[in-house]
Amino acid sequence: RNVVFSGIQPTGVPHLGNYLGALRQWKRLQDEAQLTGDKLLFSVVDLHAITMPQEAEALRIQRREMMAALLAIGLDPDKSTLFFQSSVPQHAELMWILSCTASMGYLGRMTQWKSKLQINNKQGDLSEDAMTKLKLGLFSYPVLQAADILVHRATHVPVGDDQRQHLEFARECATNFNATYKDILIAPETVTAPSPRVMSLTHPHNKMSKSTPNHRSRILITARAEEVRSRIAGAVTDSLNAVTYEPDLRPGVANLLELLSQCGHSGEWKEEASSPQQLADRYATAGATLKDLKADVVAAVWRELDGVRGRYLDFLNRKGGKWLDEIEAEGAEAARENAEKTMRRVRHAVGLGPRP
Ligand code: ATP
Ligand code: MG
Repeated sequence: RNVVFSGIQPTGVPHLGNYLGALRQWKRLQDEAQLTGDKLLFSVVDLHAITMPQEAEALRIQRREMMAALLAIGLDPDKSTLFFQSSVPQHAELMWILSCTASMGYLGRMTQWKSKLQINNKQGDLSEDAMTKLKLGLFSYPVLQAADILVHRATHVPVGDDQRQHLEFARECATNFNATYKDILIAPETVTAPSPRVMSLTHPHNKMSKSTPNHRSRILITARAEEVRSRIAGAVTDSLNAVTYEPDLRPGVANLLELLSQCGHSGEWKEEASSPQQLADRYATAGATLKDLKADVVAAVWRELDGVRGRYLDFLNRKGGKWLDEIEAEGAEAARENAEKTMRRVRHAVGLGPRP
């Protein structure tokens, strides 16, 4: 029986990148689990969120908002275990144990802490000052991510393309642990979406992110129709008016074509064109402009998001907000039970825990 695990940080309401790169896959795996019997666990990873500065009250609110968003896209607490990472202390416990066999050198080659600190030099050479700014938690974050996955003995981890490197590291953590102690942990497979990462609407060389300050760079899954329209209308392209698919030369236009390809267009030529390249050819043949393309992207994105906002607000406010707390408490209990099974074996192998 496969075990699927993934997580998302409560650093704001999910955007289209999170949705197309990860959440839509989670929902698909949940639907498939009806047949396969896979076990599914999805976590709001609040311990990861504090690797960057957060305000306590805002974080508490954002955790609930993330839970409501996951339910709004169709995750179902009767089918998937949904919980806050910090409700399951086994994650942090395993992290410590893994960090005693994890390599600093390997962690240093990870790119995410560099991008979060906006260190652009390739080697990531750190001045004294940057070294002071780099917090231990941000640096060792991938070890916690490995623990999240390994503690649940996950076999499959559906994540966006930007997480490939971290998943590779998680496999390395499992191998290191197993070689040092005992063959207990499972090296998981990465499941990525067919799409490459969704890029920022204002800086199409960067990926769309929850935590970049510019709101116009992303479309939230709870956006209203009017917001979807204005964000796409304002998406940075270039001064050429024809539609071509050239990711290196025209990243903004390529991103729009990717979005259309992922969300699916409703044109009459639906059967013939679905990849970004095919779509671009189609627009070129028709002599269509970027404005035509943008209008189609708005319609396609809205078909995906229509209804999410209503469900999100409903879930947030049910039973004066208590309903969400109950869902989380139930999920957390199931997740603790699952994680504790692994931890009993891990503690024993390391020489911790009670005498057998
Ligand atoms: P933050 O900026 O706070 O890191 P984020 O937008 O990167 O937020 P995460 O919570 O770090 O979101 O990631 C949640 C999931 O969404 C991960 O599986 C990640 O790979 C995926 N993801 C994030 N951004 C994108 C993107 N632009 N395109 C595709 N997938 C993405
Ligand atoms: Mg991220």
